[in-house]
Amino acid sequence: MSLKGRVALVTGGAQGIGKAIVRHLAQAGAAVIALDRDDEAAHQTVSQIVSEGLTASAVCADVASSKSVAAAVAPLLKRYGAVDILVNNAGITRDGLLLRMKDADWDAVMSVNLNGTYHCIKVVLPSMVKRRWGRIVNISSIIGAVGNAGQANYAASKGAIVGLTKTLAREYANRCVTVNAVAPGFIETEMTAGLPSATKDALMTQIPMGRLGVPADIAYAVGFLASEEAGYVTGQVFHVNGGMHMAG
Ligand code: NAP
Repeated sequence: MSLKGRVALVTGGAQGIGKAIVRHLAQAGAAVIALDRDDEAAHQTVSQIVSEGLTASAVCADVASSKSVAAAVAPLLKRYGAVDILVNNAGITRDGLLLRMKDADWDAVMSVNLNGTYHCIKVVLPSMVKRRWGRIVNISSIIGAVGNAGQANYAASKGAIVGLTKTLAREYANRCVTVNAVAPGFIETEMTAGLPSATKDALMTQIPMGRLGVPADIAYAVGFLASEEAGYVTGQVFHVNGGMHMAG
């Protein structure tokens, strides 16, 4: 699989799953831009990746703001002409049972996870359509498929990403733009670092592979969907969860 000559934009690319995706796409030959609201962390990640002899750069933006995304992406489009691969990975959680959930926590999760995905697609898609080639990979979650008590906002945002993915797959298939989702199970990152060990032990009993995932597990799935070889795969949800959930 080679992504040589391709330009890839990865949101939330500073750490965790996003960082692994940036590294994997760069290893496959793409020029990768890590977009994150944490500018310092994004630059640190990129310097590490560049020191490995790969091509990467960082831009700072808040995906929840359409203005911030447009301002960050405009110079990229000017420089490269198009973004060939967009990975919508930036995401947050603000957990709580619905009756205790603050409106601000509902809104924050929707703004980043769902609206952020929409904002990034909106600015990047015209360049893909123009070139008649594009790969959009949206990071959903197992929680969007099966639900989880205490995560109504997160589950709703990740389920909505699946509907968005399938719709755009239908709208842009004839322009050779594929749109797919990757739905991770439980992956070892900052997002899951705070889970109590009893919760992790309980989770482990539900994972046939007997371990949490690592960010690279997700990056490999994204790499395939971003490749030339995946050109006939669109509108799909690729579950990567150690067998925890087996979608029909
Ligand atoms: P993470 O370690 O928290 O990393 C997320 C990155 O996204 C951080 O660098 C974060 O910056 C950035 N980000 C958050 N909000 C942003 C915004 N508004 N604009 C730009 N960047 C923003 O999370 P992760 O575990 O790698 O998760 C990555 C994706 O996978 C998320 O969409 C998540 O929902 C999904 N996922 C994760 C798991 C899991 O088990 N870890 C499972 C299923 C799905 P800050 O540090 O400044 O917030």
